[in-house]
Amino acid sequence: MKIGAPRESNPNEHRVALVPETVERLVKAGHEIFIEEGAGIRAGFPDSAYSEAGAKTASATEMAGSMDIFVHVQPPTTEEVNALKKGSIVVSMLNARTNPSGVSSLAAAGATALAMELVPRIARAQRMDVLSSQASIAGYKAALLAANSLGKYLPMMMTAAGTIPPAKILVLGAGVAGLQAIATARRLGAVVEAFDVRAAAGEQVESLGAKFIQPEAAEDAEGAGGYAKEQSEDQQEAQREFLKEHIAQSDAVITTAAIPGRPAPLLMTEDMVAVMQPGSVVIDLAAESGGNVAGTVAGEVVNINGVAIHGPENVPSSMPYDASQLYSRNVMALFDLIIDRKEGTLTLDFEDEVIDSMCVAHEGEARHGLGEK
Ligand code: NAD
Repeated sequence: MKIGAPRESNPNEHRVALVPETVERLVKAGHEIFIEEGAGIRAGFPDSAYSEAGAKTASATEMAGSMDIFVHVQPPTTEEVNALKKGSIVVSMLNARTNPSGVSSLAAAGATALAMELVPRIARAQRMDVLSSQASIAGYKAALLAANSLGKYLPMMMTAAGTIPPAKILVLGAGVAGLQAIATARRLGAVVEAFDVRAAAGEQVESLGAKFIQPEAAEDAEGAGGYAKEQSEDQQEAQREFLKEHIAQSDAVITTAAIPGRPAPLLMTEDMVAVMQPGSVVIDLAAESGGNVAGTVAGEVVNINGVAIHGPENVPSSMPYDASQLYSRNVMALFDLIIDRKEGTLTLDFEDEVIDSMCVAHEGEARHGLGEK
């Protein structure tokens, strides 16, 4: 089969969908792989590494018009969608839930669109789970951002000039990103506390050497698929009251709370930011979906009374080498599911929960009600 990966056109997207390691495996399996010139350079993969792995070169629109599978990190551009070969498969993080016009245009182009962010959270699909592979990077980077932005050591330091106490970090939301932020901050020697509305997160937090904090009589808000449910306004208010005390004692707060398909919950109101000491830092990983913190501006660092609130965007792209390796392996795991190993042909089984969940456009129609109304 002909499989192509273009250079991402967004200047802030440094990742690439296929890395040389994956290209080599696909070429060995008998596929023809095309990579756009310079596609991997920002991630640390030069063109020479792709040609050594057996890839050929083509432009993005040439690929769109001739590939059986067109693989992206970000949704394809309008130009690429217009050039798509009818019946081709587009594999990408499509932001399908919030991008109805993108889904509709892929359907109108006659493509079969597989949204990597919609891989269901079941054990069998873990190898394809881009939300986990990329969130883990974001969590790691969030801890480093906090360390870099603080005017303090993270570990306790015993020096000739006296002892410096360790920094205190509070992590709100202990899912994939939060747990990685905790692990990283712990490795750097900080004292870490964490909160999540899912009680099950407690054991994982404690196993990383951090303290799990929850208000007394808190209700477990675990919902379908291990995700959090949205809470009532009363519950949120009680939670904020409880968190305020812990926030006041923290040097840095890292927030990672999300609810699938909904805007991010507001965990820190203005008065909660106001209790932090000048010089403290907040890293809001939910900035792109509305933010967990009052005052967050996506893509900026806002200073409120000496507290630096970071709203970083597309954090996985700031570590593009490993983010691309992991993304590419997730994509490869999908190929193992949709390409017959012996025949090398496509086998899209819509009875399979994984394919059904991630396929958002097929045979001219948007699926799961995700296109334009
Ligand atoms: P996510 O990105 O949707 O949310 C991040 C965290 O924020 C979650 O832990 C959530 O409980 C928490 N949160 C939501 N509202 C909150 C609030 N008001 N206050 C505090 N915290 C709040 O979730 P995620 O990190 O992608 O994963 C969440 C769950 O899914 C975890 O249980 C994880 O183990 C599970 N998971 C399963 C698989 C799989 O089986 N394949 C893969 C990945 C994750």
